[in-house]
Amino acid sequence: MMPTCQNCGQQWSWFTTVKKMFTLKKKMMCPNCQAGQYVTSDTLQKNGMVSMIPLFTWVPLSSFGVPLLISAAVVIIVVLIVFALMPKLYKLSNEEDPLW
Ligand SMILES: [Zn+2]
Repeated sequence: MMPTCQNCGQQWSWFTTVKKMFTLKKKMMCPNCQAGQYVTSDTLQKNGMVSMIPLFTWVPLSSFGVPLLISAAVVIIVVLIVFALMPKLYKLSNEEDPLW
């Protein structure tokens, strides 16, 4: 499931979502209806956990003496998978969620 605009119901494409992710702005404009959309605080929590995965992959690899080149390759693959999946975790809201 990709994120869906809560204003017009348009489903955002993977590419749109990734682009919005990198602007790091809280308010993201829907490419279809131009309404401001906010990610839910639930999404931010999940993303925080997901972005730790490459780190958790790196630590055991380096402590088991896996050659640097191989661990780096594995971590890069994991990062790519995380990026591919992240937009699917996005949930949009018309209102800005209070963080606490
Ligand atoms: Zn929209």
